[in-house]
Amino acid sequence: MKSLYLDSDSKDNYNKKLDLFFWEQIMAKALAEAKKAFEKEEVPVGALIIDQEGQIISSGHNCPVDTNDPTAHAEIVAIRNAGSKQKNYRLNGKILVSTLEPCIMCLGAIIQARLQGLVFSLRDPKYGSVCSRISVSEDLDWLNHHFWMVEGILADQSRNLLQAFFALRRKKNGEVPKPGHNGPDSKSGRR
Ligand SMILES: [Zn+2]
Repeated sequence: MKSLYLDSDSKDNYNKKLDLFFWEQIMAKALAEAKKAFEKEEVPVGALIIDQEGQIISSGHNCPVDTNDPTAHAEIVAIRNAGSKQKNYRLNGKILVSTLEPCIMCLGAIIQARLQGLVFSLRDPKYGSVCSRISVSEDLDWLNHHFWMVEGILADQSRNLLQAFFALRRKKNGEVPKPGHNGPDSKSGRR
């Protein structure tokens, strides 16, 4: 587990929750969401929104193919569900938990939702947009909204699930991995 960025305003809350066991319990639930995507033959990524007490407000799994919606990444689905439940387009004080480093679209949604924190499992070297391709702390220091991040929770389990998915898909389709869009991407695992 590694803390990437911490805004001073949220330091107290962060410290309260800086507990590996706690995050593993929560990430296991996000991985259960990712498995739902796997069962639907979607790239297995899952996400949750939790409040500061660790209560789950909403969940989501990756489903762009099934819904014909390129924005239906797990994180966006979870954010939409949380906003709908809270009847609020802002999710101040809430935390996004994802089994994969968010892409640039999902980073935009985190900022728009004013989420307080992000906990993710596995880095995505190809499309990851909070530390891999874009560094939130260095490239986006002009933003007036900041959020803290923790990474690496149950990363092996997330990686194994993605690798199993792409291995199965290649076996089924005899497909050559193609980067981007909804095509398989064996390097990044992103949808
Ligand atoms: Zn995304």
